[in-house]
Amino acid sequence: MARARAAGESGMTTTRVRFAPSPTGLLHVGNARTALLNWLFAKKHGGQFLLRIDDTDAARSTKEFETAIYRDLEWLGLSWDASDRQAGRLAKYSAAFYRLQASGHVYPCYETEAELERQRSLLAARKLPPIYNRAALDPATRQKWEAEGRDPHWRFKLSRSKVRWTDLVRGTVEIDTATMSDPVLVRADGAFLYTLPSVADDIDMAISHVVRGEDHVTNTAAQIEIFRALGAEPPGFAHCSWRGGAGGEALSKRLGSLSLAQLRDDGLEPLAVAAYLAKIGTSDAVEPRQTLGELAGEFDFGKIGRAPAHFVPEELDLLNAKTLHILPYAAVKDRLRFHDEVIGQGEEIWNVLRPNLTRLSDAGDLLKLITGPVTPLIEGDLAARAAALLPPEPWDEASWGAWTKAVSAQTGAKGKALFHPLRLALTGAEHGPELKKLLPLIGRARTLARLEGKSA
Ligand code: GLU
Repeated sequence: MARARAAGESGMTTTRVRFAPSPTGLLHVGNARTALLNWLFAKKHGGQFLLRIDDTDAARSTKEFETAIYRDLEWLGLSWDASDRQAGRLAKYSAAFYRLQASGHVYPCYETEAELERQRSLLAARKLPPIYNRAALDPATRQKWEAEGRDPHWRFKLSRSKVRWTDLVRGTVEIDTATMSDPVLVRADGAFLYTLPSVADDIDMAISHVVRGEDHVTNTAAQIEIFRALGAEPPGFAHCSWRGGAGGEALSKRLGSLSLAQLRDDGLEPLAVAAYLAKIGTSDAVEPRQTLGELAGEFDFGKIGRAPAHFVPEELDLLNAKTLHILPYAAVKDRLRFHDEVIGQGEEIWNVLRPNLTRLSDAGDLLKLITGPVTPLIEGDLAARAAALLPPEPWDEASWGAWTKAVSAQTGAKGKALFHPLRLALTGAEHGPELKKLLPLIGRARTLARLEGKSA
């Protein structure tokens, strides 16, 4: 089948990438980053992003996890141009397998798991790498096993030579396939393992670049040989490395396996999570963005370092707050609970409240500072004296300055002695949004009541 040419090569270019999760668990932050990098790369180049559900492992794949993958990607804002499931494409893998069989690239093996395990421990005892010994290629041995009626599993016969590619993240990578075991493509029960279906799909779906975790680097060497054995030019590759946390192994494992669902339940902004995952491990600063499109525009594999990206929850928290501080009302209004109570003023209120948010869910509490009821805290007689000086409405941002100036002139209070009692009376709290902006929204009636010590 003709393949789309990879971006960056001469002639027409089509960038087509795929995110290929196995529905055997929830998407964790590391997978989510892989999905995002694929998506950003596709958008940057006006290409396509496909979602491929790798569910050939029938025993471990579930519909629930598959549904959760769709939900989590949607939450993050990543839409896909097409999706498919490997379980529905088995005939394609059989066809690819028969081609490899016909061209002599695969061979049947009959060792049991226990026999293979024994071989590996013998090699380990001699301090040799656990590479499969190709005993099944010996005709006499093979005949003996066949006579015993054993069912074969099938291995791909690696070339045992150097495979080279220019990785978009790691630069030139060279792996000698003599250092690897021939990969098993089909199990004795006839089930396909991941290696061949992935290549068959990448060819069939005209994938231009495979963007995935660095744990697949060795697979890539074998898969490049399989692409070629199937008569296809291998796609481009980018292997991104990833590590949770900056601490030791255990912490790193725990953080790296945090699920996206946990972040959502924790009330984090999808855009903050996306900006964080897009920027860590790159030469760009971790700063908030208003849209995924901005992140796509800035995306470049050249900015991604070879060193693992560290996921640090405290940094994500900080970015979440910074993201809220720049998000326009339109981006949050459907999720804000205060919608009905403030018709017409929603945007104004949002702009006043957002600099004080660390989670969107805090907005409801902050809104109460405006709509009430607030239980004022009255210290001394300043509030009562200030009440007498409240100007008439209409109020704007200048009203606060004019009013407090008059209060200061009348009472002699200045600085903290002036502003602190007024904040306590108006908001019932030590800290909060800027009073000059809050005042016009609170309005004269509620302001007066609070200054008089009444809940309003
Ligand atoms: N299902 C594989 C995984 O989740 C896909 C790897 C790939 O992108 O090829 O690791």
